[in-house]
Amino acid sequence: MSDHPVPLTALVTGASSGIGAVYAERLAARGYDLLLVARDRQRLEALASDLQARHGINVEVLAADLAQSNDLARVEQRLRSDGNIGVLVNNAGIALHGTLADATAEQIDALVALNIVAVTRLASAAAAQFSSAGRGIIINLASVVALAPEMFNAVYSASKAYVLSLTQTLQGELKDKGVQVQAVLPGVTRTEIFERSGLDVTQIDPQMVMEVGEMVDAALSGLDQKERVTIPSLPDAADWQAYIKARDALGPNLSRSSSAARYK
Ligand code: NAP
Repeated sequence: MSDHPVPLTALVTGASSGIGAVYAERLAARGYDLLLVARDRQRLEALASDLQARHGINVEVLAADLAQSNDLARVEQRLRSDGNIGVLVNNAGIALHGTLADATAEQIDALVALNIVAVTRLASAAAAQFSSAGRGIIINLASVVALAPEMFNAVYSASKAYVLSLTQTLQGELKDKGVQVQAVLPGVTRTEIFERSGLDVTQIDPQMVMEVGEMVDAALSGLDQKERVTIPSLPDAADWQAYIKARDALGPNLSRSSSAARYK
């Protein structure tokens, strides 16, 4: 990241708390101007004045509910048209708990609107703007449940598998355009997401819970190392490479003119 010219502006969604607020702080410390997006204008303004005072950067607040189509279109339009924006931290997200059978239509729609629709529309806008500028960074917040869907809620886990898949395709599409695209797969990270979705993080084994500052610092280190997928707690990166290798081995046989012998 340090080889990108500053000051560029980093647009961080979900910047009012948790992971997004720490990204905002760390990017401010790296000299980026900021465009902070979330619903809670007061919290964003408090963070903005703190970061302006501490880091001498410019911070703009854009209060928006990304699950609402008018607000999403406003942020998307800004991303498409503002050539100063060089980083998108596509972070805003909500969680759910309980079974799919128990979920209400409103809960499902709200999660899909934010975790899937908004993330996709903003990634698309950033891909267009950054590739025409020949530079830029897109950071998409997925989750380890993208790899372990049995561990958690179905809609949430599927939304994060979607984000991982979207990111991997986008990496191929943008590989010759000067745009870096990273998927970050945090494990359990101590933020407000649990209380917001009615879960109690104190019920989770503390050995599995990372502090948010450590998580974001690891993710940014992965970005600096040009990792395409960063799993902050994974001790041995070779385990991820082995997973990709196993997947690639399926490749030549995934689409053929005849069915496998065991089905005949
Ligand atoms: P958090 O503390 O609850 O923060 C979520 C952020 O998203 C807040 O700034 C919230 O701000 C914003 N947001 C929520 N609904 C929104 C909406 N409709 N429109 C715009 N902004 C909205 O949660 P977090 O843990 O930092 O989560 C950040 C991302 O990391 C999410 O995508 C989450 O899925 C992912 N993640 C978290 C964990 C974890 O264990 N914490 C693990 C893996 C992945 P407002 O309320 O002001 O809108």
